[in-house]
Amino acid sequence: MPDFLPDDINQQLAIATELVKDCLEPLDKRLNEESISQKEAAAQVRHASQEKGIFYKTQPQEFGGHPTSTLELTALRELFSAANVSTSAHVFGPGPGVLANVSEPMASQYLAPVLAGEIQGAFAFTEPADALEPTWAVRSENDLLVTGQKSYVTGGDSADFMAVFLNVRADAENEKGTAMVIIDKDLEGVSTEKDFTSLDGSGHQSITFDKVRVPIANVVGRIGEGLPRALGNIGNVRLLVAAQACGLMMWTLNYVENQVMKPHRSGTPLGMKEGVRLRLSDMRIDAFAARSMLYRTARLADAGENIINETIAVKIFSTEAAGRVVDSAVQLIGGQALVAGHPLEKLYRQIRSYRLIEGASDLLRLNLIKGKLELGKGRV
Ligand SMILES: Cc1cc2nc3c(=O)[nH]c(=O)nc-3n(C[C@H](O)[C@H](O)[C@H](O)COP(=O)(O)OP(=O)(O)OC[C@H]3O[C@@H](n4cnc5c(N)ncnc54)[C@H](O)[C@@H]3O)c2cc1C
Repeated sequence: MPDFLPDDINQQLAIATELVKDCLEPLDKRLNEESISQKEAAAQVRHASQEKGIFYKTQPQEFGGHPTSTLELTALRELFSAANVSTSAHVFGPGPGVLANVSEPMASQYLAPVLAGEIQGAFAFTEPADALEPTWAVRSENDLLVTGQKSYVTGGDSADFMAVFLNVRADAENEKGTAMVIIDKDLEGVSTEKDFTSLDGSGHQSITFDKVRVPIANVVGRIGEGLPRALGNIGNVRLLVAAQACGLMMWTLNYVENQVMKPHRSGTPLGMKEGVRLRLSDMRIDAFAARSMLYRTARLADAGENIINETIAVKIFSTEAAGRVVDSAVQLIGGQALVAGHPLEKLYRQIRSYRLIEGASDLLRLNLIKGKLELGKGRV
């Protein structure tokens, strides 16, 4: 499926393909054979990616990064996802996330060490379903006193701090409203309620805040800006999720098409049967539609357009399409595809979480149509 990308991006994709062949795939194989540790494999990937200049593409220029266009980043993300190897998680350097453009002292205290890989943050947005009120804070002159719970903090276990979305309550003198607040994991009153793993294999924590005293300097931007800052960060990640979903669809198509053209006990390769071909065709149409949306959205971003609605649409469509494609692939491969350890068994679990992370599909649908019917902002 050609995307008619500019020459400079095609050159970067060729370099990325070399990285996949020479480094990511061999290390992934060694990880599966348990002949190398996760830590050592991650270090080798980071080193190889730095040498090829890809590592720095997600990092701001003022911190030594070489940020690139949304189109190039999207194409690279799709390519690494299409390799379907766990080692691709370490290719890009840590990005700023919600810390983008923070000023001192937060820049030195959090942003610079995050970008250097010295400390790690986690994003704490989702509240428990039965929370009586969202996580909140009251303000004194120099502090916020934070109370509440976040139920699904990915990577909370290894995080040094969390970027927490909360509501600052009104008082007589101070500002009120939503805020993104950086909260260190080791502060008094922060406790882990439970550690858990989700279907896709990723690890999370549920975290409680009991009157945690946080310096007011740890508010990202200003009080009242929490929601746009959180949604800005989520919006960037939604496009990343869409690129990954498209990449996984491409891997799945290549895998299945290869398999169904092999000899089958019926005497005819399954790929020669019309019913199977109809399914394969539907899978390709899904992937083509999702990728067309993805690349159009990336190009709009680079043209300086607001892509909120397009990003919602492509996130919903590509993750649901990937669900259909992987499900069809399991059906065509048969029982072997569901044996523990089969690549499709793993993908089937992984792709399911994509319809919930960074916004559940139906809630995103409601946002999209609200923009159209009520806010006059709908472009999709
Ligand atoms: C692998 C994984 C990683 C995650 N990582 C993080 C993380 O790092 N940080 C974080 O903060 N969160 C994280 N989450 C949580 C994720 O963001 C939420 O699960 C998701 O936003 C849905 O919220 P919820 O689970 O509270 O479901 P709810 O908001 O309770 O919704 C459940 C379902 O109810 C329906 N629904 C809800 N409201 C409406 C409505 N108004 N109209 C119609 N239908 C509705 C929808 O079908 C929805 O899917 C992660 C989740 C997963 C699976």
